[in-house]
Amino acid sequence: VERSLRAIREVDGRLKAFLLVDEEQALAAADRIDRAKMYQHAPLRGVPYAAKDNIVTRGVRTTAASRILENYIPPYNATVIDKLQQAAAVMVGKTNMDEFAMGSSTETSAFQKTANPYGEDRVPGGSSGGSAAAVAAGLVPFALGSDTGGSIRQPAAFTGCFGLKPTYGRVSRYGLIAFASSLDQIGPFTRTAEDAALVLNAICGHDPLDSTSSREPVPNFADGIDRGVKGVRVGIVRHLPEEGLEPGVKAAVDRAIQQLEAEGAEVVEIELPHMEYAVATYYLIAPAEASSNLARYDGVRYGRRAEASSLLEMYERSRSEGFGMEVKRRIIIGTYALSSGYYDAYYKRAQQMRTLIRQDYERAFEACDVIAMPTAPTTAFKLGEKLDNPLQMYLNDIYTIPANLAGLPGASVPCGFVDGLPVGLQLIGRPFDEATLLRVAHAYE
Ligand code: GLN
Repeated sequence: VERSLRAIREVDGRLKAFLLVDEEQALAAADRIDRAKMYQHAPLRGVPYAAKDNIVTRGVRTTAASRILENYIPPYNATVIDKLQQAAAVMVGKTNMDEFAMGSSTETSAFQKTANPYGEDRVPGGSSGGSAAAVAAGLVPFALGSDTGGSIRQPAAFTGCFGLKPTYGRVSRYGLIAFASSLDQIGPFTRTAEDAALVLNAICGHDPLDSTSSREPVPNFADGIDRGVKGVRVGIVRHLPEEGLEPGVKAAVDRAIQQLEAEGAEVVEIELPHMEYAVATYYLIAPAEASSNLARYDGVRYGRRAEASSLLEMYERSRSEGFGMEVKRRIIIGTYALSSGYYDAYYKRAQQMRTLIRQDYERAFEACDVIAMPTAPTTAFKLGEKLDNPLQMYLNDIYTIPANLAGLPGASVPCGFVDGLPVGLQLIGRPFDEATLLRVAHAYE
């Protein structure tokens, strides 16, 4: 913990991965763990970590990188935070992110922009860019992020970390500030698949406080991780949408798949015919859910309250001043898609398409055990490059979004560099089969 705090002190002034670091509290927690007998065999004893700032922490300011929660001090812990405490891990701070996890570059944060450790003029990806940068720069051995449409996998790819989005329902969402509740999932950034297995062991499992939390049995994810890939069927997508896919990224991913084949995996072709509609589908469903989830920020119950002479004016001003541009854009899209005259044309059709996308994967997994494709079409782009072009920004999520719509586990594994910038190989698995994902990733590493 001391080493981690020192590294943060040295590097984070430039990197800006953290929104908050509480040295005193971290050292006190480490000290308690050193002394207490009950933690002697705890699985993550004394391991420092960082948490994305949309995961609530008792007594520690939690902002979701939004002005509207600027001074919010939660009275409770997210389940993942309690579980990590039981595993004797030590939280050193909260990391920067896109406001309410809406974005792909961490630039929509109301507070600061985070650099990519591989190039200060490059974004770390998003929305969990702070967590990714913190792990990539060696400030912490692991960090928690959240993934609604790629926000763990894409920043993992951009910063050369391992990133895992577990199956929807695998990890409790209790205490995760909601963006799109049917898509959100918490997961780890680590340096290796094996580390991710250890963190997943600690944070997963049924939670009565989250009604969508699964009762599926939980294996030890580290068991058998080194069994290799002999006989594992790796699916590659015929007619993968390749618009915007950089040739260097494609080449690195193709090489990674060849390497898996060389190690004994069987490569088979599969079809995902509705994949091209995933981005459009997501950008109706996610904003629709967000518009409803964000209705609670009214200046009354918590967060920022604007001065005003009437109740209505207070609501309006609190929300106008508290939310940034991207969040407002999502609220407008979402309320429009849900409005009575347009509901059937937009929201309902998006839900129907979501079912077709899920069925594509069910069919594909009859022929293969994992699916491999790029995590993102590009390497880390330049700060500011896509900020004024939301559509460009949204299209960066083309390969990550489908797994969220289908609820499937997905991982990004570092698979080389293009012009000094990391590339990620994405692996997508069957529901609740994180074990196979981790095993294939470990074999590749
Ligand atoms: N980039 C996507 C969005 O802006 C995904 C974000 C996420 O996974 N939280 O919605």
